[in-house]
Amino acid sequence: MLYAAVASFPPPLLLLPPPASDSAMAHVVAIANQRGGVGTTPTAINLAAALATMGRRVLLVDLDPQGNASSCLGFSRDQGLPGIYDALLDFRPLSDALTEVRPTGLWLAPATRDLVGAEIELVDEDGRERRLRRALADVRGRFDDILIDCPPSLGLLTLNALAAADTLLVPLQAEYYAIEGLGDLLRTLSAVRRGMNPDLVLGGIVVTMFDPRNNLCRDVDQQVREHFGQDVLATVIPRNVRLGEAPSHGRTAIEHDPRSAGARAYSALAREWASRHRAPALSGAM
Ligand code: ADP
Ligand code: MG
Repeated sequence: MLYAAVASFPPPLLLLPPPASDSAMAHVVAIANQRGGVGTTPTAINLAAALATMGRRVLLVDLDPQGNASSCLGFSRDQGLPGIYDALLDFRPLSDALTEVRPTGLWLAPATRDLVGAEIELVDEDGRERRLRRALADVRGRFDDILIDCPPSLGLLTLNALAAADTLLVPLQAEYYAIEGLGDLLRTLSAVRRGMNPDLVLGGIVVTMFDPRNNLCRDVDQQVREHFGQDVLATVIPRNVRLGEAPSHGRTAIEHDPRSAGARAYSALAREWASRHRAPALSGAM
């Protein structure tokens, strides 16, 4: 009797990592590019997994209604469990939706099917761009890094991520059209800084799907580095078949084949990222 009642409770918050003793707050990173198929989701899940492997407490928020990050991490959308939608639209505590995945130390706020309608449903809501920021406030003290996998658009869900984030990480596919699209994203960043989140900074551009034998890839990489200088991360993500196949096993490449070129690149990216960005202190963080 008692057991049945207890079993129906939402997962207790105590199962989450305990609050950090030094009252540090998670560093919140929006990973976004309004173009699809450029390596946003592989960057989000493998960077998250690599940071967790380094011993950091990491939360990955799947803000893309396609739910690719959630399925890559083995989350089944048909279990009827709460997800990020419930926190955004119904003000349900985000801690109810968090689920621990692999590797150890990595948590997921999953995208459930109802997230497909969120972009339209949010339009008439008060504080519609700040729902995610508000939801994350509950759990920010329990993680070192919160990574947000954004949908491939500059709609309300991505705006929620930019309003909630400390930094923006842009995956840039090493191809010609990528540079054109980057302008729109950087103009959106400026607009968000002028309006809803003046503290948001460009935390880095990471070149993805790089093929060293391809002249165009090398040209794009070189031009982006000339133009954006230190904003471009030194680590380059190669085109690697393991990154494409790992999701079908419900795993990140970090777990699927840690020695693959893709997994090694994301591990190197995690080290570079961690040395560039430290978690901000509690004072004035939210
Ligand atoms: P999005 O940028 O919209 O999140 P994805 O990058 O997930 O899109 O999707 C593009 C496709 O390219 C996927 O099938 C993915 O597995 C594959 N892919 C992404 N990055 C790489 C890479 N570095 N090497 C090989 N395949 C990749
Ligand atoms: Mg994606």
